[in-house]
Amino acid sequence: MQKSSIPKKNQFGFYEIRLESIGGLGANVAGKIIAEAGVVGMGFNGSNFASYGSEKKGTPVSSFIRYCDEDQPIRINSPVTEPHLLGVFHENLAARIPITAGVKPDATVVINTDKDPQKAREYLRLAGGKIFTVDAIKIAYEEKVRMNVVMIGAITRAMEFVDKEVMKEAISETFGKKYQKQLEANLRGFEAGYSQVEVMEFDEDGRFPVISFKEVQGDWGYENAPIGGVIVEAGSSILKNNQTSRQGKIPLFHLDRCIHCGMCETTCPDYCFSFVEKEDSKTGKNQMFNEGLDYQFCKGCLRCVDVCPVEALTEELEAEHEIDKITIKL
Ligand code: SF4
Ligand code: SF4
Repeated sequence: MQKSSIPKKNQFGFYEIRLESIGGLGANVAGKIIAEAGVVGMGFNGSNFASYGSEKKGTPVSSFIRYCDEDQPIRINSPVTEPHLLGVFHENLAARIPITAGVKPDATVVINTDKDPQKAREYLRLAGGKIFTVDAIKIAYEEKVRMNVVMIGAITRAMEFVDKEVMKEAISETFGKKYQKQLEANLRGFEAGYSQVEVMEFDEDGRFPVISFKEVQGDWGYENAPIGGVIVEAGSSILKNNQTSRQGKIPLFHLDRCIHCGMCETTCPDYCFSFVEKEDSKTGKNQMFNEGLDYQFCKGCLRCVDVCPVEALTEELEAEHEIDKITIKL
């Protein structure tokens, strides 16, 4: 067992980590692996739990990890409000929920993004601290692994005090039994995350304030929910924003290949496509023409890619396309 001491602790004696993600990216498993590496491999005492809703994919997930000295009991089971390290698995979450709440200017932030640390700091509006950026989705795509192992690699590099080999052992322990064939690729993904992070440190220069942690309360609770469990928010409406449900891939529309058959329109669960009636220059008759999709509503399920008979929709990495430019604004 490796021995090392925990470099920073709060007033209760804990080093605390919070992972912010969406369901489907593997933050829950990542939290378990990081906690296990600290406890089994480094000899700390530790705990981990996650908080998520009933949906399997696409909705916010937080995972919390605490490390303390071996002989200290853990009697706290509440969410981490002021993390020493914040891991952001999906950068678009910042537009939806206050993921940086409680992050102090001496904290470390690890974010999955194609932005450099300077731009990531601006995007997250961080007061200061150390920022590590890694394009985890792109690496995961190249290595054919899930992005959580890439993020674990970047987080291990940022933490410094948990041994890299210990973390690899925890990954092997988790994935080795169930997914032996994939283990090598997972370890490659981990190494790539570890080595490809970019880092920059920012002083607290007053440009952005520290946001205090406040528990996000839902609009409806047991005291005021409508009788009968009626859902009062429309599932599909102009106000809906599904962008945070995407996991790095988009359907890209190629107008020049499209035969306007409408298969994508009838398949898409979120009515993303825009068809307009126009005169067909060949027949002189009016026909519905596909003008593309609005990415505000697209959750990246890629069903439309599967059904398109002429490859007018292709599966692409979101980070490689300026999709705002091809988004139809309603
Ligand atoms: S399924 Fe393909 S060809 Fe048919 S309308 Fe959609 S994009 Fe065009
Ligand atoms: S990937 Fe295609 S089918 Fe799925 S939500 Fe987006 S546009 Fe609709």
